[in-house]
Amino acid sequence: MPAQITDPPPADGKRSEAELARLPASERIRYRLVGAGCRHHANDNIAAFIRDGEMDELRAEVEARMQGVLEALVIDTESDHNTNDTAKRVAKMFLTEVFRGRYVAMPSVTEFPNASRLNELMIVGPIKVRSACSHHLCPILGRVWIGLLPNEHSNLIGLSKYARICDWIMSRPQIQEEAVMMLANELQMRVKPDGLAIVMEADHFCMHWRGVKDDESMMTNSVMRGAFLKDASLRREFLSLLSKKT
Ligand SMILES: [Zn+2]
Repeated sequence: MPAQITDPPPADGKRSEAELARLPASERIRYRLVGAGCRHHANDNIAAFIRDGEMDELRAEVEARMQGVLEALVIDTESDHNTNDTAKRVAKMFLTEVFRGRYVAMPSVTEFPNASRLNELMIVGPIKVRSACSHHLCPILGRVWIGLLPNEHSNLIGLSKYARICDWIMSRPQIQEEAVMMLANELQMRVKPDGLAIVMEADHFCMHWRGVKDDESMMTNSVMRGAFLKDASLRREFLSLLSKKT
């Protein structure tokens, strides 16, 4: 029997590029993530580990596995014209729309120095939130308000950029409490305000479509940092302006 030709194992125990190239894209990307010790939970961004062309490979892979899910659900996707292309549509929707925030880099945001030394409470919102829960992949639809108290060292960013950063973080499978935290961390890092407040109010479809089927419940949560934590009147001002804006 002829000996199988295989790549010699690399001395450091790492896989060779040729070996990696033969793996499905998801395994290749996971290999890089694990090698870098990088967390890749549902709401983490992994764009830095994806190379050119691999998104198309991922799409084909998700499509094939989604087709497997439909088959396991005993749906005849061949004669049912409605589900002919469902696997393809779902793969595209996951990777390029609803979970896009996992796979693309942070939108570019220009920061301006606070030249006119604005130090008044600033409120941005409501910003529309479209997300999905990590538990059931059911939609989460809601709104976010951001309160900022800049100081003279803060970097200001254009108003529309708040919505873009928010969308980037929300378009991943999320848990509402973690989503607002992630948004707060991102804004804290970029804007460096004296105070930061975020309120998110959302409707979780896993409460309507399945489970308790409760049609009334909205989930609201908030993050308060810096001046908003220390100063009760600032907090009150933010919350009262916010209630007028709804
Ligand atoms: Zn859920």
